[in-house]
Amino acid sequence: MSIFLDERLSSLKAYVPGEQPKPGEFIKLNTNEFPYPPAPDVAQAAFDAVGGMHLYCDMNCTCLKAEFEKVFGYGGNNVLFTNGSDEALYLCFLAFCGKNRGAAFADITYGFYSVYADLCGLEKKIIPLDNDFSVVPSDYYGCDKTIFIANPNAPTGKKLSVEEVEGIVKNNNGIVVIDEAYADFSGSTCALLTEKYKNLVVVGTFSKSRGMAGARLGYVIADCLLIEDLNKVVFSINPYNVNSLTQSVGTAVLKNNDYYAECVDEICKTRDDFTNRIISLGFEAIPSYTNFVFAKHPEYSGEYIASKLRENGVLIRHFSNARINDYVRISIGTPEQMDSVVSALKKIIGGLK
Ligand SMILES: *Cc1c(COP(=O)(O)O)cnc(C)c1O
Repeated sequence: MSIFLDERLSSLKAYVPGEQPKPGEFIKLNTNEFPYPPAPDVAQAAFDAVGGMHLYCDMNCTCLKAEFEKVFGYGGNNVLFTNGSDEALYLCFLAFCGKNRGAAFADITYGFYSVYADLCGLEKKIIPLDNDFSVVPSDYYGCDKTIFIANPNAPTGKKLSVEEVEGIVKNNNGIVVIDEAYADFSGSTCALLTEKYKNLVVVGTFSKSRGMAGARLGYVIADCLLIEDLNKVVFSINPYNVNSLTQSVGTAVLKNNDYYAECVDEICKTRDDFTNRIISLGFEAIPSYTNFVFAKHPEYSGEYIASKLRENGVLIRHFSNARINDYVRISIGTPEQMDSVVSALKKIIGGLK
């Protein structure tokens, strides 16, 4: 740290992303990425976009938005695209929290909420999950802060129903942000509630279910006035936040949506199968609505399992937070990758090397 860093930032704890090793070094199941190749047309779309990259990109993401509307049913003034959904979340902290309002979120949830709240100098209201890691909807009723809920939640993999989310939105005058990073794996979305509620923001990403984690594409669906607010912030930071290569690739991905939907189905099948297999190895696994499984073993610590898997060429995620210290979070890869994980776990738990 230099002597020049703003005092306000000197104590800030930045987000700690999962390790990004050299490609091929590990079976990489630590950051919930999409394990399949892109649809065949996507590479051509990226190649074609290179010819136009000397020009600034389309700030309105016109082509991308048109394809998005075909798939998601929302477009026009109800949608905003962002540089990953992390940027969308940050815009919500900037636009809707304010100095006196602050942010409310769970104790066990996506780590960035706390980091953004600190970065913005906001008051935080931490609402603990209940004993089985469920979000209790009524805990959020009548909240005096802007609410952030990951649904399904990370790293627990549990979800609230659309009706439960509606209850939270209905019982608040302030903004409720629902982070749907994993919604495609859960079979439900709260997007349709944005037609009825002017205080609901739904945030999503192409990182987890559409194979674009490295290309950075996120979106917001909300009432047009909220989108206008967020756009004001975008135009005050960087109107070219979604670059032209990403716009082209995103458009091609949406044109091939059936392929991605099939992959998501496959991932869900692999997840349920993997969950059953580790349960038979003695793990306690929380039934997951995402592309990862959150599990613990009664005899082996989370840290031990993560470090032993690493020795066996498999990267997973372990969190040091006291409440979830026993757990590991394992992303769902291809069936072959999960076979390797199960074999490695058998060795580790059997006390072999
Ligand atoms: C992965 C993730 C995100 C961020 O995804 P981007 O790559 O920035 O689009 C947001 N929220 C949750 C809960 C996530 O797990």
